[in-house]
This record gives sequence, structure tokens and C-alpha cells, in this order.
Amino acid sequence: AKFTTSQIRADFLEFFKSKGHTIVPSAPLVPGNDPTLLFTNSGMVQFKDVFLGAEKRSYVRAADVQRCLRAGGKHNDLDSVGYTARHHTFFEMLGNWSFGDYFKKEAIAWSWELLTKVWGLAPERLLVTVYHTDDESYELWNKMIGLPPERIVRIGDNKGAPYASDNFWQMADTGPCGPCTEIFYDHGEHIAGGPPGSPDEDGDRYIEIWNNVFMQFDRQPDGTLVPLPAPCVDTGMGLERLAAILQHVHTNYEIDLFQALIRKASELTGMADLENKSLRVIADHIRACSFLIVDGVLPSNEGRGYVLRRIIRRALRHGWMLGVRQPFFSKLVPTLVEQMGEAYPELPAQADTVVRALQAEEERFAETLDSGMKIFDDLAAKVTDGVIPGVDAFRLYDTYGFPVDLTADIARERGMTVDMEGFEASMEHQRETARAAGKFGGGVTLSAELVASLEPTAFLGYERLQADGLSVVA
Ligand code: ATP
Ligand code: MG
Ligand code: MG
Ligand code: MG
Repeated sequence: AKFTTSQIRADFLEFFKSKGHTIVPSAPLVPGNDPTLLFTNSGMVQFKDVFLGAEKRSYVRAADVQRCLRAGGKHNDLDSVGYTARHHTFFEMLGNWSFGDYFKKEAIAWSWELLTKVWGLAPERLLVTVYHTDDESYELWNKMIGLPPERIVRIGDNKGAPYASDNFWQMADTGPCGPCTEIFYDHGEHIAGGPPGSPDEDGDRYIEIWNNVFMQFDRQPDGTLVPLPAPCVDTGMGLERLAAILQHVHTNYEIDLFQALIRKASELTGMADLENKSLRVIADHIRACSFLIVDGVLPSNEGRGYVLRRIIRRALRHGWMLGVRQPFFSKLVPTLVEQMGEAYPELPAQADTVVRALQAEEERFAETLDSGMKIFDDLAAKVTDGVIPGVDAFRLYDTYGFPVDLTADIARERGMTVDMEGFEASMEHQRETARAAGKFGGGVTLSAELVASLEPTAFLGYERLQADGLSVVA
């Protein structure tokens, strides 16, 4: 194929270089100096202080390919993976920026030029949204580009739907933000879904490919908007979504890079249907997990490490569903290195660490995954109202290392839910019991790490630890 993902990355950077942009490297997934943010969820994160005027760079135009993770915090797409054609936990965002330099006119003109002239997308397949009060962007699309009014949709603020259109972009609850204009691609009538702003916009027919944000404010903790020192442009385009269009496929999982991972996962699991949902989830999760480890995160029971553990365990459970009872997940790493090592040299450099960390987690979870699944199956057979009781979800969490979102995900596949309030109550009860018992100087729980690090002879089993009033977190 002409438009490999590598080619698209290169084309993008070349285009913006020709428009006077400095090419900068991707920042890590763990933001360097931003405690308000769990992960780098978009290209602008590494430029946050530049927008705020607190940091100066030697350039006023920049472009890059940023690795992103949306699996926690304000942007969380974990529960969409495997359910939509277009959402990943880990993805690559192509971005261009103006720091007080060009504004709406140039940003809009260049995005159109790149999509329709350089990459040759059919203009009639594209439609755009603008912030409902942003007449300037509306006019630029209508008069300068020549888009007819029926393909320019005015959109306001998202009132809560998980991926409903929202034309006021925010990195987090505080920080740089502003109105945006987004470009959508129509994959065709044969796919279910309506245009942005319509009741069935969550479908996969009209897929959002590029967001152009006009950064103008710094959102304060009390919600007020303080104008930035200078208006800026911040754009983000999903590499995988664009590759799907240019490679004439519909879902991101059909692009070259994902197909390589899926074929390997198919080989490792014996699942021959390459459109199988579990293969897709596994292919998604190996990217997220590997890059998290590359960027210094290791599986643990709190914060970023717990997000990583949750994603790994979800992937392992999908392998289990396909009948795999041997370690398989870390065996995908060489394929990932083949696919992405050139674009991200830090990946091959740390591949051994990634493999070892994944293997260790896989061995650890193997001790309880099988019995946990049996417990779940028994429960599911008993439950009559479709709701897994909180105490049981807690037992799966506490004794079998099933993060509650994993249990909820298994339940969802069977048309069931988990009583989350009940789960929280059990959790709270256990904290109190542990505090009262004070065995380890007041409420210190025994971590799964510690348990796993005990010599096999000293390992009493999770049940026994429980009986002793000790708890295993995760
Ligand atoms: P969506 O509405 O489809 O969830 P978004 O509005 O949340 O996307 P933005 O925050 O505007 O996305 O990010 C800019 C671009 O990054 C999007 O236009 C899309 O191409 C890409 N993108 C966003 N989220 C994901 C994801 N989870 N997986 C892959 N690409 C994504
Ligand atoms: Mg989204
Ligand atoms: Mg959107
Ligand atoms: Mg968007």
C-alpha cells in the first residue's frame, strides 16, 4: 500500500515543515511536570506552559507525532475499545501548533490542503463542525474553502455523552482550552451512524479525524476563563483513523500496523477470525502497555501503575476467553517493535524491560485468573436481576486480583452490570476492618507485589491471607 502509517507520519511532518514548522519529538506518556494529568492525552500536553506564557520556545510553529493514552482522567476511552471502529487506549496524534503566530485562517486552509490536495481525500466526503458562536470559522469554511452550509454543523458544549460532539476542547478540568472546529469523514451509507450533532452521531459512519482548537483561555479551578497571553492554534489528528481512510478500510484495526499485531495475536491464540473482538482488544492493549512501560510505568496497585495493571489484566482475560492458558501477551512485543520501533527508538531500546515486566504480571495473574473466572461464571448463573452484587465484585477484586472495571467488562459482555456502590461499600468496610485490626501499624494492606514476592513455600494462598484478616489489594 502507498499510504502506510509510516508514510502518513512522514507526509504530515513534511507538509508542516514546508509551512515553516519546527518538528519536535513525541513527549513520553507520563507528563513531565503536570500533576493535574495522569497521562499525555493529546499533542498539546507538552506545550501547556507555552500556551500559558510561562515557557518560551525558540519557535512559534511546531508539528509532531505524539503518542497518547486515553485510559484515565478526563479523557478515557478504555470502555470503547473493541466496541467502536475508532477508539484506542493508545494512539498516535498528528499535530501542528501556532504559539501566538498564525490563527484560524491558516490552520483551516492548511488542514484542507493536506487532506484534499496532498492525500487526495474526496472533498464531498468531508464535513466540519464549528463552535456554535464561532462565525469566523463558519465563514472561513464556507467562503474561503467553499463548503456548502449543509456540511458545516454548529455545535455547542458537550452535555455529558461520552463521545458526543463537543466543540469546546479542554485538556483537563483546568488549563488551556478554547473553541474548536473538527473535520469528519463519511465512510458511506452502508455503515450505521449519523452526522455530528444528530442523535445517532455515536455510530461509526461519520468519523472525526481532525480537531483544530483555537486556544484562547486558561480554565481556572473555579471554572472561570482567563484569556491566554496570545491566541494559539492546537490541532490533533488520529493517525490510525486517517490510515483507515487512506488504506480504504473502515476500522482502525484493519490498517497495516494493527493487522500485523492482530495476525500475531491470532497465531498465539489460535483464533483464526481476524475480526474477532478479543484480538482487537489485545492488539490495542499491547501498544498501551508496552509504551507505558517504556515511559517508566510498572504494574502496581495505585495511580498510573494500577491503570497499567488493569489494561494488562483485561488483555490477559481476552486471551483466556480465546482458550489460551499459557503466557502469550509479551510475545507480541517483537511484532510491535517491528511495526513501531523505527518511529519510536525508545521502544526497541527497552524491549527487554517491557517483555520482562509483562511476563511477570502475566505469571502473577495466571495464579488467580482461572479460579476468578469460575467464580464469575457461578455467580452469573445464580444472579437473576442481571446485577453482580458488590460483595462478589469485591471478592473477585480482593482475592482474585480482578480490578472492578475488569469484572464490569465481563459483566457487560453478558448483558449484566456490577453494583458499583455495593463494591465501594465492601471496599470501605474492608478498610475500616483493616484499620481496626491495626495489624500492620494501622490500615497497611499487604500488596499483591509483596505477596507475589514471597517464596513459594511461604505463600499461604490468598484465601488463607484473607482468613487471617489480611487483605490483598488488586
Ligand atoms: P471522539 O469524539 O471520536 O471520541 P475526540 O473528540 O475525543 O474524538 P479529540 O480530543 O478532539 O478527540 O482528539 C483529536 C483527534 O484524535 C480526534 O479527532 C481523533 O482523530 C483522534 N482520537 C481521539 N481519541 C482517540 C482514540 N481514543 N483513539 C484513536 N484516535 C483518537
Ligand atoms: Mg473522545
Ligand atoms: Mg469528538
Ligand atoms: Mg474532538
